[in-house]
Amino acid sequence: MQFSQVYGLESIKKKLIASVKANRLAHALLFLGPEGSGKLALASALTQYVYCSNPSDTDSCGECSSCRKITSLTHPDVHYSFPHTGGADGISDDFILQWRELVTKNKYFNITNWAAITAKDENKSPNLNIKEVRKILTKLSLKSYEGEAKSLILWMPEYLQGQSNALLKLIEEPPQKTYFSLVAENSDALLATITSRTQLIKVPKYTEAETQQFLIDKYALDPQKAEQIAYLSEGNFNKAVELVESVEDNYAEMFRDWMLACYSNNLGKVSTLADSMHKLGRVQLQYFLTNGLSILRESMLYQTIDNYQIKAEKGQQDFIKKFSTTLNASCIEKSYAQINEVIYHIQRNANAKIAIFNLSLQLRYNFIRNK
Ligand SMILES: [Zn+2]
Repeated sequence: MQFSQVYGLESIKKKLIASVKANRLAHALLFLGPEGSGKLALASALTQYVYCSNPSDTDSCGECSSCRKITSLTHPDVHYSFPHTGGADGISDDFILQWRELVTKNKYFNITNWAAITAKDENKSPNLNIKEVRKILTKLSLKSYEGEAKSLILWMPEYLQGQSNALLKLIEEPPQKTYFSLVAENSDALLATITSRTQLIKVPKYTEAETQQFLIDKYALDPQKAEQIAYLSEGNFNKAVELVESVEDNYAEMFRDWMLACYSNNLGKVSTLADSMHKLGRVQLQYFLTNGLSILRESMLYQTIDNYQIKAEKGQQDFIKKFSTTLNASCIEKSYAQINEVIYHIQRNANAKIAIFNLSLQLRYNFIRNK
């Protein structure tokens, strides 16, 4: 991965590049950032920059043999270590194929995603065991294959068990030209001896604008949809990916049915729909409601601006037009505010089922008064 493929984080990239060029890159770095931030991406881009045979002032070339091997996670001098579910006898290398497949596709996953791929038995929790630590020591004490430098990218050092003194000692007194990149999420769970032996690179969570751009690039989402999902992702690319990949296509239809049920005072239908919405789960429900808000917003704009071009998929346009001609402006505005408030409460763990049913009653009341 090149630096240019890592979203945002420009000032951190600049500092890292400057220290490589000045030949004063710390031999042990701790990339610490929340879930779904660019910490693993940064560590990968930095490693590639260090090994690249033709780097520019701002990035690795992406084309030389080293770059290609690092991109495919097959460079013989760049080692990866990560929690695994192989029990006391397992090592990370037992899972290297799954690791390569996941990391080349997505660098924002969390430990739960990873464990779900590797654990055959759900009760097995991932860890970095003593056998893995010994394996790391062996790998790093061997002569390097290609260049002079050897690297270890250690993902989630939080999962190192107590007996990792040998590794700590190695980090403290590393062999010549050996680089450690530790990629961690939770500083409280890290051994103090790790934080004291590494240089900290704090990786902030992503902004909404960066998340929106990421979604547009990766999934070719339209900007409005990307904005909604970015808002709900709270700067977590992993959450954004999960939202996009699990979003139902029928939300617009479901929203329309719900509005019609409220309008026609069909409480039986309202109750059934409230059940289905509740079953979506908290995050999807927020997305569903946010999507509904954009339908109301478009209705308001269509109502007030002459020849307004509705920003929505074709299938939704008729509904938006109908909505805006059936209901008056203050009714739509009021409904918008009420839905918005429920999103706020659901984010803060309100009982979703009750909140949705109450909201339905409020909307029904708005619509009756409108008639
Ligand atoms: Zn290169």
